Amino acid sequence: MKNIQPIRMCIACRSRHPKNTLLRLKQMGHDIVAHDGTGRSFYLCMSCSQNEKKVKGLVKRFKQDEKYFTKLLADLILRIRACEKSHLN
Ligand SMILES: [Zn+2]
Repeated sequence: MKNIQPIRMCIACRSRHPKNTLLRLKQMGHDIVAHDGTGRSFYLCMSCSQNEKKVKGLVKRFKQDEKYFTKLLADLILRIRACEKSHLN
């Protein structure tokens, strides 16, 4: 039996996905950072985090620096990918 993952909603497209396939972020003061286990978090799905239009929308919505935010998302995507790989082995 596979473990059932909790379902969370992506803040950009509002579609629902298993928690372990979503990027987890949080707002810390003015900045969006990777969620570190404290404070309120929100989720972004893989397709939105790789969709230039959606990312630009989020940059505006959260008033982030575009380069910084794109890099943050890229780092989190790599982390999820690495995690998926380790499950396949
Ligand atoms: Zn999404």
